[in-house]
Amino acid sequence: MNAATSPTLFTRGSLVTRFAPSPTGHLHIGGARTAVFCWLLARRYGGRFVLRIEDTDRERSRQEYTDSILASMRRLKLDWDGDPIFQKDRFAVYDAAVERLLASGHAYWCACSPETVEAAREKARSEGKKPRYDGRCRNLGLGPGPGRTVRLAAPAEGRIEFDDMVKGRLAFEASELDDMVLRRADGSPTYNFSVVVDDAAMNITHVLRGDDHVNNTPRQILLYRAFGAEPPVFGHVPMILGPDRQKLSKRHGAKSVMEYDKDGFLPDALVNYLVRLGWSCGDREIFERDELVSLFDGGNLNRSPAAFDPQKLLWVNAEHMRRYTPEALLPELRPFLNTDGESGPQAGATVDRKLVLACIGMLQGRARTLKDLAEQMRPVLTPADDLVYAEGALESLGPDDCAHLAELRDRLAALEAFDRDTLHAAVQAYVEEKGLKFKAVGLPLRVALLGAVNGPDIVQVMQTAGREDTLAKLDRALKLAAGGVQNQC
Ligand code: GLU
Repeated sequence: MNAATSPTLFTRGSLVTRFAPSPTGHLHIGGARTAVFCWLLARRYGGRFVLRIEDTDRERSRQEYTDSILASMRRLKLDWDGDPIFQKDRFAVYDAAVERLLASGHAYWCACSPETVEAAREKARSEGKKPRYDGRCRNLGLGPGPGRTVRLAAPAEGRIEFDDMVKGRLAFEASELDDMVLRRADGSPTYNFSVVVDDAAMNITHVLRGDDHVNNTPRQILLYRAFGAEPPVFGHVPMILGPDRQKLSKRHGAKSVMEYDKDGFLPDALVNYLVRLGWSCGDREIFERDELVSLFDGGNLNRSPAAFDPQKLLWVNAEHMRRYTPEALLPELRPFLNTDGESGPQAGATVDRKLVLACIGMLQGRARTLKDLAEQMRPVLTPADDLVYAEGALESLGPDDCAHLAELRDRLAALEAFDRDTLHAAVQAYVEEKGLKFKAVGLPLRVALLGAVNGPDIVQVMQTAGREDTLAKLDRALKLAAGGVQNQC
C-alpha cells in the first residue's frame, strides 16, 4: 500500500468503500472480484462497505439482474452495510447537484444536438486534434429547454494527476477532456456525474474498480474540484483475461456467480480464487476468509491482467472442500442431495444424516465440487434395488468374478463386526488364500457396490454402507450378472 492508501491515514472505521454494479447482466467473475476487493478492504479496516445499484439507464437495467446481483453477493457472503442504494431513487439528488454547479458557474446549459456535437468532434479529428466538443454553448448563458443538456465547464488546461492504488501515479492533460455532459436531455444523469455525486455524498474514501474506468477518473476528479470536494483514493484493477489472454468470455468457461453456485462451488473457494486473480501474498494459494480479511490491505494488487483458469478454480474448490468437517459441509451439500436432477441420489428420498456424513468423510478428498461429491456418494445412498450400473459394468463380471463375489458375500455375512479392520482382514485373507491380487476382488466389488469400476477404497465403501446394504448390493449384482447373456456365473 502506498502513502495515499495507508491505513494510518484512517482512524479505524473511517474507511468507506463501495461496489457499484449496473444491473445490465448477472454478476460475473470480473465484477465479483471487484466486489470482493472492496469488501475485504472495508472489513480489514473496520470500515463501511456500501452497495449501490447503478440503475439510471432505464433501458438496459433490469430488476431480474438486480435480484441476481444481490443474491450473488449474499451467496458469496459479501455483506454490505445499510440498505442497498438505488440510483434510480436519487434523481432529485442529481438534479440538486446540477443546480449547484450551474449556480457556481461550473456547469452550463447546452442546446447542441447530437449531430452538432459530432460535427465538432469530426472537425477536431480532421485537424489532427483529439475529438472533443468545442464548448460553443459555454458562454451563451442558455437556460433549460427541450433537448438541452447540462455540461461541465471543464478547465481548458492543466494536469490531472492521482496516485492509483494499483497503477501508481497517473497523469492526464485537461486539454484532452471534453466539457462532458452531466445531465442528458431526458433529465437523466450521466454515469460520471451520478457516480461522483454519490461517492461524495456517501463519503467513499476508496474506489476500487476495473481499469475499463481509468479514463473516467480524470473526468470525475474534475467534478470533485467543481464541487470543492476531496476525491477518494482510486484503484483500477486490470481486466481478467481468458486463458488465451483474450477478453474473458463464456467460451473460456467463465460463468456467473449463481451458475458457479449451481455447479457446486463453495463461496469461500470462489472468493479465494477471485482474490488470487489479481492479488498475491507470497506463493500462497489457499486462504480462509478470515485470513484474507486480516491480510488484504489493498497493496500487492497486480498491475498485469490475470488469466482465468477453470482447472485452478476446481482445484481451489477441492482444497476448500477438504478443509471442511463433514458436519460443516453437509448444509452446503444438501441442495445437491435431494434434487430430482442428475446429481441427487434419489428424487425426494430422505437421506440418512449419519450415512451422508460418513460418505462426506470418505469422499471429500476425491471430489472437486459439491455436485461431484453428491454424484460420487449417490451409489452408496441408493438402495440396492435402485442402484444404476454404468454401461458395461455388470457385463464385465466374468464367472471368476461372480464366484469371488459369492464367496466373499458369505464371508462378509458371517463377520462378527463390520468395521474397517475386520473387513480389511477378511478381504485380505480371501485374496491370500486364493493367491489373488487385491484388484481381482476390488474391481468386481466396486461394480457390485457402486455400479462402476472406479471409486474410493472398497473396504471403506463397505464399512460406510454397512452390512445390510453391502450384502443386498452383492446379492443383486450376482442375480443380475447371472441373468446376463454373456456371463454364466
Ligand atoms: N456502474 C459501474 C459499472 O458497473 C461502476 C463503475 C464504478 O465503480 O465507478 O461498471
